[in-house]
Amino acid sequence: VTISQTELDKLQVLGHGNGGTVYKVQHKRTSKIYALKVVNGDSDLTVHRQVSREMEILRRTDSPHIVRCYGTYVKPSGDVAILMEYMDAGTLDTLLRSRGTFSETELAHITRQILKGLTYLHAHKIIHRDLKPSNLLVNKNMEVKIADFGVSKIMSRRLDPCNSYVGTCAYMSPERFDPDAHGGNYDGYLGDIWSLGLTLMELYVGHFPFLSPGQRPDWATLMCAICFGDPPTLPQGTSDEFRSFIECCLQKESSKRWTASQLLDHPFLRSHPTSD
Ligand code: ATP
Ligand code: MG
Repeated sequence: VTISQTELDKLQVLGHGNGGTVYKVQHKRTSKIYALKVVNGDSDLTVHRQVSREMEILRRTDSPHIVRCYGTYVKPSGDVAILMEYMDAGTLDTLLRSRGTFSETELAHITRQILKGLTYLHAHKIIHRDLKPSNLLVNKNMEVKIADFGVSKIMSRRLDPCNSYVGTCAYMSPERFDPDAHGGNYDGYLGDIWSLGLTLMELYVGHFPFLSPGQRPDWATLMCAICFGDPPTLPQGTSDEFRSFIECCLQKESSKRWTASQLLDHPFLRSHPTSD
């Protein structure tokens, strides 16, 4: 069943991204709630490329760990919109700010879902490239889903270095800054694993791991720390399993990082089995 945009009532703004606005909307006939991402026709080319990329990826993905897409709209005016499932608990970033840091048990539950999402994406030759707390959506059942595919890449023909980047650099792996220094043959999928490691660490310690709490990012210093410094480490009191898991993600050399499916079998997740 396709839902026409005229059947939707805008209830409130959920968030603004670069170039687009996400609304909470209600389908008049069924009263069902959705999220609608709208990009105006007069937005610049970069924004349009991103929303087209996102539409393409959401249309071809079908996983309980990826935000679901129920329709896409392109108007003659150039306005573009994506109808998505509504995630009623916000993002892991807003949750971190409102309720504080996550325990290892909670993180194991979150990690397993993100890894299942990443395994799905990587098996479908999709690299997310912008994994971070604000791009992970959550609902009241504590289901975590990967969202925001604006800068993702579909590895169709050959393995070319993932260049041209627009977005946040903070969660980018060392090899993304300088592919040549890594032999130019790095595996782009493992960049998502680095970002996962930083994301989980942030949810555990409460701040971006390469900065001290409250420190403002200075991009040049941050980039130097990521490329030339040691990866951040966890504080005292962290279990050996979680420490090891983070180390498997935050290997500076991408070839030493574990893949998403390998990580699903890591002792950290085995020490926190699922209840279902
Ligand atoms: P950013 O540049 O900050 O990553 P963006 O342009 O990539 O933003 P999105 O991340 O897709 O845009 O959405 C912006 C915000 O809207 C999100 O941070 C989130 O708070 C909210 N949002 C997006 N999609 C949904 C959804 N399906 N359900 C609930 N809230 C959502
Ligand atoms: Mg986002």
